[in-house]
Amino acid sequence: MRTIGLIGGMSWESSAEYYRLLNELVRQRLGGLHSAKCVLHSVDFAEIEALQVSGEWEKAGEILADAARGLAGAGADLLLICTNTMHKVADQVSAAVTVPLLHLGDATAAAVRAAGLTTVGLLGTAFTMEQDFYRDRLAAHGLTVLTPDEAGRGLVHRVIYEELCLGVVREESRAAYQGVIGELVAAGAQGVVLGCTEIELLIAPEDSPVPVFPTTRLHAQAAVTAALAGVEGRA
Ligand code: GLU
Repeated sequence: MRTIGLIGGMSWESSAEYYRLLNELVRQRLGGLHSAKCVLHSVDFAEIEALQVSGEWEKAGEILADAARGLAGAGADLLLICTNTMHKVADQVSAAVTVPLLHLGDATAAAVRAAGLTTVGLLGTAFTMEQDFYRDRLAAHGLTVLTPDEAGRGLVHRVIYEELCLGVVREESRAAYQGVIGELVAAGAQGVVLGCTEIELLIAPEDSPVPVFPTTRLHAQAAVTAALAGVEGRA
């Protein structure tokens, strides 16, 4: 089994989900007492969030690149950046190491394509919804990406930073997200990418009239598949 390196803490609420999912998925696939081989570098999210707000992405990227070097040195065979937003600096991180970075956008797009869908709504931080880096990555896989209107984007962003990243899950916010999802579906979305690693703490498949694509789970699944390639059957 390969060792998965996690660049996490953004926020730790979703990193905890990554850790649980990786271990559950390895146990499901190998059985018994098997669990995921992994190493975690967890940052102080307040420092990263301040750099996001001030637009100092390269500085944030250097912090994550340092984490990547440390994880590679600690034996990681593949790396995950455990946030959609910070994939804005994915190239900077992957240039710092020789171990492969498993891109969250690629894992997500592959799941959307496997479901036979081509047009998806995207929920995430304002950075993810409004800038090119993530939408373009999905579009490169042949997907058409719809985002909420300005009011919807503001709402989705605010709930991420003021609630979900602090471990707060509110029924009113779930209902508000369902309203935004309804608008995306009315605009033609066949599915909705939960493109922030905390959103699946709030939105479950039954909260949406169309399939949802939970990026933490999809990233963890892709990582376990990569970590176990060639291992199953021999365990
Ligand atoms: N975890 C979130 C994401 O997937 C937001 C936190 C961050 O800005 O990294 O985008």
